[in-house]
Amino acid sequence: MATADVVIIGGGVAGLFTLDQLVRDGHQPVLLEVSRLGSGQTVSAQGIIHGGLKYSLSGTSSASALGVKQMPAVWSECLAGTREPDLSDVTLRSRSCLLWRGGSLGSRLGYLGARLGLEVTPRRLEPGNRPPLLADHPGPVAEMDEPVIDPVSLLESLARRHRQRLFLYDPDRASWQLEGPGSVSGLCIWHPWDNLPGSMLQLAPSAVVLAAGAGNARLRQQLGLSATATQKRPLHMVMVRGEASQLPELFGHQVDGAHTRITITSDRDSKGRTVWQLGGQVAEDGVGMSRRELVDHVAKELAEVLPGLELDGLEVNTYRVDRAEAATPGGGRPETQSLQIEGNTLTVFPTKLALAPVLALEVAAAIGDLVVRAPGGMSRSLETIDWPRPEVACPPWESATDWLPLAPGAAVRKAA
Ligand SMILES: Cc1cc2nc3c(=O)[nH]c(=O)nc-3n(C[C@H](O)[C@H](O)[C@H](O)COP(=O)(O)OP(=O)(O)OC[C@H]3O[C@@H](n4cnc5c(N)ncnc54)[C@H](O)[C@@H]3O)c2cc1C
Repeated sequence: MATADVVIIGGGVAGLFTLDQLVRDGHQPVLLEVSRLGSGQTVSAQGIIHGGLKYSLSGTSSASALGVKQMPAVWSECLAGTREPDLSDVTLRSRSCLLWRGGSLGSRLGYLGARLGLEVTPRRLEPGNRPPLLADHPGPVAEMDEPVIDPVSLLESLARRHRQRLFLYDPDRASWQLEGPGSVSGLCIWHPWDNLPGSMLQLAPSAVVLAAGAGNARLRQQLGLSATATQKRPLHMVMVRGEASQLPELFGHQVDGAHTRITITSDRDSKGRTVWQLGGQVAEDGVGMSRRELVDHVAKELAEVLPGLELDGLEVNTYRVDRAEAATPGGGRPETQSLQIEGNTLTVFPTKLALAPVLALEVAAAIGDLVVRAPGGMSRSLETIDWPRPEVACPPWESATDWLPLAPGAAVRKAA
């Protein structure tokens, strides 16, 4: 029997942040992962630590805006190493994001920032201080102190410090002992591929945290809980890549009324090329499109949104990914992070990567009421145990194949 007072299932940003928080609170948690850490949403995320403005464009002070408004400051302290968890080894892609649109955006943004009391107030950029791609943009361009991080380096940072608590497992080679719906008395996992006698771990946690993203629905069913408490919202994301001389790094949103028409974040691939991830409305619209239709749509969108961008020579690819969240009555985006407690099972969804620190604190507070801390340090059996450990997933552009040329009609022409 291994000593673990809390078992966390799923090693995305939610599970790893919670693991780190519980260790700092003196608990003895372990984390079970089915695949690579962050597979699914975290590794696909654009990494923007939103401060709420994006959610305030409709002019109402929604809970989304109010809940996330502290996040840029909280993350900035973690990234600077002045607040736990110390994330000073996480790659900061950008300190700020841009916001641009034609018309009277500048005055409207100022009004919104003041009215909502947002910590992140957009500053208008003079034409001389804008990135070259937006130098000739006819409307105002604003800059917000919303940091953009590399989610892969975040996963690596958190995983590195708790490696001995991470276990790769196969859910089909696990058996739960239940006393009622959501009331877990034990969990037995077998080694993922070793059938030798004794290649198993018996755990008797006081609490179980389901942090498996899209996997939470099935896990909840296994624990006798309703799977309808969760929802998925699909996205069809786009990636554009090119040499750094043609495709400069850019971070920001082009807004259109209350919608984010396109959100662009940038990174470098393993060959030093710039890769843009394109989200926002374009990824929502892409859900109903084939890959080739979306590629053509994006070429047209980019030509309108960034007319100075030379598309010839750039390559494009797409990937589908579901956002996994707590269910809402209309199926729309939940306002904030979610924690549901049934028996000694906690089902969690951060809703946004940015909200993982608050979610981890909420989980820790709830666990404090459920769990009697195990005495002493980590049990010897856990420290020395010989077991496969999960690796961190790679970003979507490293696994994508069959890139297409980016030019209006190019995808269709290539198919013909
Ligand atoms: C395309 C996209 C862009 C985004 N951009 C941003 C952004 O810029 N800023 C922001 O704040 N948020 C963003 N988000 C939202 C953010 O990514 C998610 O809210 C967050 O990553 C969810 O983390 P998670 O740990 O709950 O889930 P996941 O990251 O999905 O992790 C779940 C983990 O559980 C594992 N798992 C699954 N089933 C099981 C099982 N049965 N047993 C054990 N392990 C299991 C998976 O392998 C995975 O490692 C974005 C989301 C998407 C999809």
